[in-house]
Amino acid sequence: MKAFTYSASVPVLAECDVLVVGGGSAGCSAAVAAARQGARVVLLERYGFLGGTGAAVLDTFYGFYTPGLVEKKVVGGIPDEVVGGLERRGVLLKRPNTYGAGAGLTYDPETLKVVWDELVSAAGVRVLLHAYFADVIQDGPRVRGAVVGTKRGLRAVAARAVVDASGDADVVARAGGPFEDAGALGIAQSLTTTFKVINVDVARAKSFPKKELWALMEAAASEGYRLPRKEGSAHVTPFQGVMVTNMTRVAGVDATDPDALSRAEMEGRGQALEYLRFLRDKVPGYERAELGGLSVNIGVRETRRIRGEYWITREDVLSARKFPDAVARCGAPIEEHHAGGDTRWEYLPDGETVDIPYRALLPQGLENVVVAGRCLSASHEAHASIRSIGQCLAMGQAAGLAAALAKGGDLRGVDVGELRSRLLEMGALL
Ligand SMILES: Cc1cc2nc3c(=O)[nH]c(=O)nc-3n(C[C@H](O)[C@H](O)[C@H](O)COP(=O)(O)OP(=O)(O)OC[C@H]3O[C@@H](n4cnc5c(N)ncnc54)[C@H](O)[C@@H]3O)c2cc1C
Repeated sequence: MKAFTYSASVPVLAECDVLVVGGGSAGCSAAVAAARQGARVVLLERYGFLGGTGAAVLDTFYGFYTPGLVEKKVVGGIPDEVVGGLERRGVLLKRPNTYGAGAGLTYDPETLKVVWDELVSAAGVRVLLHAYFADVIQDGPRVRGAVVGTKRGLRAVAARAVVDASGDADVVARAGGPFEDAGALGIAQSLTTTFKVINVDVARAKSFPKKELWALMEAAASEGYRLPRKEGSAHVTPFQGVMVTNMTRVAGVDATDPDALSRAEMEGRGQALEYLRFLRDKVPGYERAELGGLSVNIGVRETRRIRGEYWITREDVLSARKFPDAVARCGAPIEEHHAGGDTRWEYLPDGETVDIPYRALLPQGLENVVVAGRCLSASHEAHASIRSIGQCLAMGQAAGLAAALAKGGDLRGVDVGELRSRLLEMGALL
């Protein structure tokens, strides 16, 4: 690749104890947890709102409950506060399910943005929206701060400890930490542009069996409709006449490649309109349906996963392994959206959970960086279980608390016994 060399002096916009990069489920949760410990926290987010993929792409929290016949609640603490904020505003709907990903909590994503605004403001977090993390300011294994793209040009944010909650491990990658790049390896899960459908006869649409919907997709695809995924789904929402879909599939994309991601955005939007045409033409309840909106961006399931002090494997997940440094739990099945027409599912034993160890959040070789969310240290298969929002929220609260407790930003020096007991006091389920 050709390169230009430039030198720039970057004005300091903020100095803090804990810098959180990425205002999604993991990042917001981390920022709130750290600020409640009295740390000076700056939260960076590239978009104009908080909530990340949970607000921009979808509307259902999974991972709060184990699937199967025995439903057990798996996460608590800040995740409960988020759910409480949505419930109080009357925009939360529990959708019980034995299998699939288990019971889901479906909400209004616009209200979720406000719930996060309130939680971070009450905790005293300094929020920088429209602020793009571009690079690290580094001193060997220590990240001293971040270079941030803003409307006023590049600015620096100096920090003692950094939480990488960018989803793509942007901080770890820029700092030279090790990671597995699912996109570059060609194993990344497929991408999905979700869309909202309005004017639906929800009673009829809801009672139409999923298997028959899939058979109609198969038949329509052979008739010439461009439907790469034959097992797409649509679900009810807290609103009358509104269904939300998870149907499109753009496979084989390395979502950290700017060109590939741009092509995927356009392909996802095109597919969304084609799936809408299919629904309107073929599926009971959708005869008068209209497009209510496309996701803000195409949903990216998997990019970089860090190489941490522990690497969670498929065997750990399926055997519901326990760890002494557990900071969160996961009961969600391995749900793999691969390039083919269907989705692969593998379950833990009924009612069981795998532990997420603190070490899986600590990138090798970096002293004062901790990750949270979907860029954790896990194999492709283990990640396909642990990436649900319930777990991202739970990892975020653990990472934020650890960053606030880390003396001089030394995250490996955190007393794990104290971290766990503080998490339990906060309502976490361990
Ligand atoms: C199509 C799709 C459907 C899914 N369905 C479900 C579901 O129904 N239920 C469920 O529980 N899970 C679902 N998942 C999985 C789940 O949504 C994600 O794994 C989870 O939201 C990831 O949370 P996160 O906090 O790690 O990342 P994100 O929520 O993606 O947050 C990352 C944040 O960082 C910001 N950011 C990234 N890079 C930068 C940068 N350089 N500078 C500044 N800001 C940056 C982003 O804008 C974003 O706000 C789905 C995922 C996809 C893609």
